[in-house]
Amino acid sequence: MMNTAVSSLPVATIDLPDFSQLGVDKLRQNVHHALAQAQQQIAEFPEQLSDAQQALALIFELDHAENQLQQDWGVISHLNAVNNTAEIRQVYQDVLLVLSDYYTQLGQHQGLYQAYQMVQASPAFTGLNPAQQAAINLAIRDFKLTGVALEGAAKTRYGEISARLSELSSTFSNHVLDATQAWQMPLDDSQLNGLPDSSIGLLQQLAEQHQQSGALATLDFPAYLAIMTYADDRNLREILYRAYVTRASELGDSQFDNSDLMQEILQLRQEMAALLGFENYAEYSLASKMAPSVDEVKQFLLDLADKARAPAQKELVQLEQEASVHGIDQVAPWDTAYLAEKIKLREYKLSQEQLKPYFPASVVISGLFHIVERLYGIQIVEKQASVWHPNVPYYEVSEQGEVIAGFYFDLFARSGKRGGAWMSGFRSRMKIRNAIQLPIAFMVGNFTPPVGNKPALLSHDELITLFHEFGHGMHHLLTEAEVIHVAGTHGVAWDAVELPSQFMEFWTWDSEALSLISRHFERDETLPSELLNALLAARYFQTGMQTLRQVEFALFDLNIHSTVPAPNSLQIQQILNEVRQQVAVLPTAAYNRFQHSFSHIFAGGYAAGYYSYKWAEVLASDAFDRFEQEGLFNADTGKAFRKAILAVGGSVDALTAFKNFRGREPQLAALLRHNGWDDDANRNPVADSVAKA
Ligand SMILES: [Zn+2]
Repeated sequence: MMNTAVSSLPVATIDLPDFSQLGVDKLRQNVHHALAQAQQQIAEFPEQLSDAQQALALIFELDHAENQLQQDWGVISHLNAVNNTAEIRQVYQDVLLVLSDYYTQLGQHQGLYQAYQMVQASPAFTGLNPAQQAAINLAIRDFKLTGVALEGAAKTRYGEISARLSELSSTFSNHVLDATQAWQMPLDDSQLNGLPDSSIGLLQQLAEQHQQSGALATLDFPAYLAIMTYADDRNLREILYRAYVTRASELGDSQFDNSDLMQEILQLRQEMAALLGFENYAEYSLASKMAPSVDEVKQFLLDLADKARAPAQKELVQLEQEASVHGIDQVAPWDTAYLAEKIKLREYKLSQEQLKPYFPASVVISGLFHIVERLYGIQIVEKQASVWHPNVPYYEVSEQGEVIAGFYFDLFARSGKRGGAWMSGFRSRMKIRNAIQLPIAFMVGNFTPPVGNKPALLSHDELITLFHEFGHGMHHLLTEAEVIHVAGTHGVAWDAVELPSQFMEFWTWDSEALSLISRHFERDETLPSELLNALLAARYFQTGMQTLRQVEFALFDLNIHSTVPAPNSLQIQQILNEVRQQVAVLPTAAYNRFQHSFSHIFAGGYAAGYYSYKWAEVLASDAFDRFEQEGLFNADTGKAFRKAILAVGGSVDALTAFKNFRGREPQLAALLRHNGWDDDANRNPVADSVAKA
């Protein structure tokens, strides 16, 4: 009999939430229950501990409470993002404040802090596995960043700031969603000139959904992008552009204006950083990141801008030439997508409309699964599950017949859903007594939904986004760390977190991969070679201007977070204007209020960290370079990447993890090559600063 042998192994569990039973009352009840359990544990935490073993046992108990709390809160915060209603928004807002309070108490808990220190200093520490050790070290660092050393009024003030910041971020994000949804414009037939049938179908479908006839323009990303790319009516493009870039600003509906919120957020962040002994918030933010200093990051970005400037200027000349063909004497921001599409058509014979029928979502998804199955030796199968929306499938990941993880795909734009795309690690891998809790992720997009009776057809840009989020998903799901604080993306330095995601994007540019992820939705035909060649030829199109744009956002983010005293809303605009002066090649509209909907930094985790995309792109490019040398589908290289980067989560620091995979420091050459720029290997300041980190 095999019983004893089998039962001595930890049992893996995957017990999914039943979304059909999760009404707002139940959600509220669950999270309050989990919170009460966690609160009780910290309230009863002993002042004096007898030894490190006792400390460790109590820390494990608290991890279990944290695990439950993260999941109950995770469902609320997920539904608040994808199925936003007045009721869920209320629950979210109420719980947010209580949670903020709890996490402040936790982060400043002297007894708990001492317990961690006691474990770290004890002989028992060396007996812990690397994930457990890393979790202890990171926790001790984080206690300092959450004000464990504060006393009296400063301690109280930290708590107040923390709670208020949570509230402000949530309101900021609600304003963006509300301002986006509040705007719409019925279109007459002449305004549809230039739009392909599929885009007209989308706008007609939107009209129908809003109980209107004809076609309707909204600021949902697929609709906005269709008009900006195709509408011949320049005036219409400007109207859309203006509406989009003034969302949630003083130039739009005043009830959604984020001006005061931004100002208050920056002031409070500055005050918090000062309380904790930092010069400014950017310094505080970098204390838990891979990058060594604010100056080094700024220099990294400026060096990158230098590399991108010459290509960007050439791209601008190309746009200007195209503009004159269309009777436009001065290129404006609402012309760029339109002109770019025309150039791609003429110069590269590349039409997104011809391309899209080859990328039905179902084919792309199964091709994507096929790629990671070959790379990592896993299998992915769709399974029945209770979900929050009928268009959401659930999948299980298994390896050698054993289930190891699960994830949901919520890919299409719809009303009540926040913009953008993201992965959220709803449940982490964790060892709980004699069982392994398996990781679960939500992956969310805002892709063009199915129109009429056709399946959803994706653009190549949407493909890139899907692969990007799936890269984050793999990081969360293929973790082998069994401690919640370092499993998956947890505990990973934020500026390295975009490595696995940007790394996955490279497969969307490979001809073998493209043959796996393309098949005409009506004919059994993969992407024809003319279209494939056109797509690959246009790969480096406008990479200079795109890089400058990312650098502009990243520098703006660093500058507003390193200016002391914190800038008011007028000064925020001035700082943005200065960065644009310094970086951009194409002037933007004076009314552009991009900052008012910059949720990444005002409502997400990217404050003084937006540079992470570019920072991690050096790592992602260089990691992919090894696949280019050894074969894109080389299973050994795939396993090595999985083992060195994906499996370890936050249990190995990011630079070491990278070096474990590449066998050397990061280098810049691959990034330059992947942008289509000259390799200037002798002068390498960008990689130097990443390598020094
Ligand atoms: Zn990402």
